[in-house]
Amino acid sequence: MAKPKLALYWASSCGGCEIAVLDTELKVLEIADFFDIVFWPCATDFKYDDVRAMKDGEITLTLFNGAIRNSENYELAKLLRQKSVVLCAFGSCAADGCIPGLANFTTAEEILRYVYEDSPSTVNPEKIRPQTEYAVPEGVLSIPHFWNTVRNLSQVVDVDYIMPGCPPQPDQIKLVVDAVIDILKNGKPLPPKGTVLGADERACCDECPRKKDVKTIKKFVRPHEIIPDPEICLLEQGILCMGPATRGGCGAKCVNAGVPCRGCYGPPANVRDQGAKMASAIAGVLDADDPSEIDAIIAGIPDMMGTFYRFSLPHSTLRRKQVRA
Ligand code: SF4
Repeated sequence: MAKPKLALYWASSCGGCEIAVLDTELKVLEIADFFDIVFWPCATDFKYDDVRAMKDGEITLTLFNGAIRNSENYELAKLLRQKSVVLCAFGSCAADGCIPGLANFTTAEEILRYVYEDSPSTVNPEKIRPQTEYAVPEGVLSIPHFWNTVRNLSQVVDVDYIMPGCPPQPDQIKLVVDAVIDILKNGKPLPPKGTVLGADERACCDECPRKKDVKTIKKFVRPHEIIPDPEICLLEQGILCMGPATRGGCGAKCVNAGVPCRGCYGPPANVRDQGAKMASAIAGVLDADDPSEIDAIIAGIPDMMGTFYRFSLPHSTLRRKQVRA
């Protein structure tokens, strides 16, 4: 019997999701044995035309990581959607926009101007910028168009499942792979469309073993400014921990290691906007009534918007900085 076909693709991402797949260690061999891997540009030399030549729905499962930042990402998202029975937004960039999505706090023009003109490391006296098309004797060269707004995968194509994390944790990937193999081998029903795989419904705080009892904050500190008590909630010690606004399932790895949760699993179930949820959580624990004192405490949070929306700006209710026409 023909093997089910698997595709793995990276759009605008750092490559960490690909490394997380390799970090499943021997499970990679099981994946390669069970599936016919038909597209995995990071690991093997497939061409886009190989995918274009496939029939619609020929790929059983595509794990798509990376945000949609340019026209090439968009073209591949549409192509893989068309060719795949099941499309999974794999990792925080595809799920919520993640770090590439922080570019939505600025514009494509500001980024290009900085990179090609203003950056201290740029030597470009003629201020030459890449063009999307350039005629050479052999024909016209084209490169992807750099979008003004970064999007997550579900904002451009229909997505079946979401697997969050920056990156998804390898032990969770293993569990999901086992579940997928079990479904395909034994004809079991798929989970409902839209299911979040490899993560909890609850918040990171719910799986964090640290004691939560103080419930008030007088001052925020950076992690290097104190030696935190290893038993007590980091947020209650003034270290900005995104645990209340972040989906659990990672095993609270960061907080167990004494590092605050950064928020990479995105908002928990039933939370629409991770940044707003974090603002609400902070508002509930500030130990001050006087507006100027509250302002002073809040001023201790460096880059509040970048911190609260580090992993989810494109998929939040804000989506991007407003640009005046
Ligand atoms: Fe744990 Fe952070 Fe939640 Fe505190 S805020 S309970 S340290 S995850």
